[in-house]
Amino acid sequence: TQLIKPRIREILSKRLPKGLVDLLPKHWVQIGDVLILPLREELLPYKYEIAKVYAEVLGVKTVLRKGRILGEFREPHYEIIYGKDTVTVHKENGIFYKLDVARVMFSPANVKERVRMASIAKSNELVVDMFAGIGHLSLPIAKHCNAKVIAIEKNPYTFKFLVENIELNKVQDRMTAYNIDNRNFPGENIADRILMGYVIKTHEFIPKALEIAKDEAVIHYHNTVPEKLMPKEPFETFQRTAKEYGYEAELLESRIIKRYAPGVWHVVLDVKVYKR
Ligand code: SAM
Repeated sequence: TQLIKPRIREILSKRLPKGLVDLLPKHWVQIGDVLILPLREELLPYKYEIAKVYAEVLGVKTVLRKGRILGEFREPHYEIIYGKDTVTVHKENGIFYKLDVARVMFSPANVKERVRMASIAKSNELVVDMFAGIGHLSLPIAKHCNAKVIAIEKNPYTFKFLVENIELNKVQDRMTAYNIDNRNFPGENIADRILMGYVIKTHEFIPKALEIAKDEAVIHYHNTVPEKLMPKEPFETFQRTAKEYGYEAELLESRIIKRYAPGVWHVVLDVKVYKR
């Protein structure tokens, strides 16, 4: 990687107007053999030229321009600037993640949490992942812990990859996937551990998580929080909701996953719940 940036610079300095070379992206995200490149406005007239050089030097098949991740399904809005195929297999921590990078979220900043999940569950636990995506957080559990996993994903397109990933990672005997809205999941009082890998509106799903949880279950509760409400939030909301529904909640641990927006953090709490 040391040599990559100077090499790209050298090639493009011959093709771009002077001054623009300094604006070339110095950071990018590579998922499998697809590249997500943040490109400044000034570089857009040369985007094809630039993407082609990054693709050749880095050996990727497709280059996307970084955009935002929006909506209920957390779908990326990226423009394809080089290549065609946006489906790839990304390998991380001994796990294969197949996904369509243009349409399914995969955040490199969440890698620590994915790795943490790989050793979180005890033998024979039942884990329910309420926002499974392609299995970001629950494939590490199914692959590396001797636990059973139920993965729920509402978006049919993302679900297709979740099912493929279960096979790719050979965890069919331990992991089952449901293509439903988690609010329609029928299991009550069954889970030892619950993953809530969602942001912005995760609090709306606390009552459902409590229903799925066994007494003394641990819930990995993600949410986005304005900095000025930390560290009280997001636990205060969790605890208040739990009480309303007749549960006690104990905060075991809280971690910052990443900066989500200026002044807003994506955090995860490990919360133990008690049925009173
Ligand atoms: N958990 C992953 C992680 O931390 O990297 C990310 C998954 S993504 C942020 C959230 C996923 O939840 C999306 O794939 C979205 O389609 C799904 N989702 C949103 N609302 C849902 C619901 N009510 N029931 C089931 N899945 C839902």
